[in-house]
Amino acid sequence: MQLCKKAENINPSITLEITAKAKELKKMGVDVVSFGAGEPDFNTPQNIINAAIKAMEEGKTKYTPAGGIVELKKTICDKFKKDNNLDYKLNQITISTGAKQCLANTFMSILNPGDEVLIPVPYWVSYPELVKLADGVPVFVETSKENNYKYTVEHLESIVTDKTKAILINSPNNPTGTIYHEEELLEIAHFAKKHDLYIISDEIYEKLIYDEEKHISIASLNEDAYNRTIVINGLSKTYSMTGWRIGYVAASEKITKLMTSIQSHMTSNVNSIAQYAALEALTGPEEELEKMVREFESRRNFMIDKLSKVNEISIIKPSGAFYVMVNIEKYLNTTFKGESINNSLDFTKVLLEEEKVAVIPGAGFGLDNYIRLSYATSMDIIEKGIDRLSIFLSKIK
Ligand code: PMP
Ligand code: GLU
Repeated sequence: MQLCKKAENINPSITLEITAKAKELKKMGVDVVSFGAGEPDFNTPQNIINAAIKAMEEGKTKYTPAGGIVELKKTICDKFKKDNNLDYKLNQITISTGAKQCLANTFMSILNPGDEVLIPVPYWVSYPELVKLADGVPVFVETSKENNYKYTVEHLESIVTDKTKAILINSPNNPTGTIYHEEELLEIAHFAKKHDLYIISDEIYEKLIYDEEKHISIASLNEDAYNRTIVINGLSKTYSMTGWRIGYVAASEKITKLMTSIQSHMTSNVNSIAQYAALEALTGPEEELEKMVREFESRRNFMIDKLSKVNEISIIKPSGAFYVMVNIEKYLNTTFKGESINNSLDFTKVLLEEEKVAVIPGAGFGLDNYIRLSYATSMDIIEKGIDRLSIFLSKIK
């Protein structure tokens, strides 16, 4: 019997797939070095864990309103004001199962069949698939090394059509770590106004920023940008809470109503205990977070330094998030022990088999001549993994 064509057309998340595979091999006793996971290796701070235990003991274990508890929505409004200079009311906030569900709700709320969403390349793996699930059409915006893989308005102008409904921006970016600056954001906001587009701004890495860089939310630039932007954020990365599944989204009252309604049927509220834990994360002490960011910066510097000593590769230097994109172009169209290495998928497969190093193929992000390494892992592992990568490269040359 014919299954759902739309579902059959969805690729599984390669980031989650490889991360799971590396974890499984480790469990089986294989000495795997994993650069796959897009998740901090630190445990969730103790004060957050304690808040969850307290919530359970106090019986906060029941359904909550579908879009989240009022206390948490208030705290999120305060966060937007304090960090981003954005004013939102409670009826503009939806709390969802990770930023991922926020994005899914967003696309389902704004897209009609055939509506196009402009997605810059490289992109986080789930964007195109989520757009397709909502009957939209992902339109990829090519970027260049010269422009540090950020899109330019000239290029956007050449691909916008009367079907374009929204433009996506992810700053700091996964996988490049690139950050858009104020003048660039102003140009994008102006472009969105000119063509009357929604702006979907994924700001999940906003706190993971290095080198004195600054995060600016495009929604904060002016009133028009505020009105057309849907801001996506979450606690997974900032508070080392990937498994708790807490994301939040700010949008107009109208869109929020649609998102809440969709969510009320699909999943209902986010786990009630996690919501109370999130309340503590956003209102409690920030020392752990600051320590984590400093640690990520040291690891980034260490990883970049090690990679710079490896022959015939180049990297995209990240200013935020916790990934380094490594260009493996010179090692493509080769063979190793009878296996062809023609693209990033072949490369990652053979690297895992031969040296037990798990990385994500750039193909998942639309850049097939790259692999992505996560530095959300210890210095020892970074050292060991890059030594192995280097050995692998010397073997396939
Ligand atoms: N956006 C980006 C750019 C991401 O890298 C991730 C990583 N998981 C997400 C959204 C979703 O995060 P989560 O669902 O864990 O909040
Ligand atoms: N966003 C992370 C990554 O890109 C986690 C995995 C996922 O949700 O895709 O690796």
